[in-house]
Amino acid sequence: MRTRPGVCQRKRRYATEAEALAVAARAEVTLRPYRCPLCRHYHLTGRTKGMRLPAFERERRMPRS
Ligand SMILES: [Zn+2]
Repeated sequence: MRTRPGVCQRKRRYATEAEALAVAARAEVTLRPYRCPLCRHYHLTGRTKGMRLPAFERERRMPRS
């Protein structure tokens, strides 16, 4: 994914993927954390095409027996 510096500065930064995932899990829209090559932190994106499902979404889609 290409990341423009302006996007990086506007977006909320998360120090760890776990922190970003926790926010994504609570969000009402589908979000994915990604590692930003500019700031080396994590941001969230709603553009999920081609991205792998995070664990919390895999669990949601897998009904437990
Ligand atoms: Zn960034």
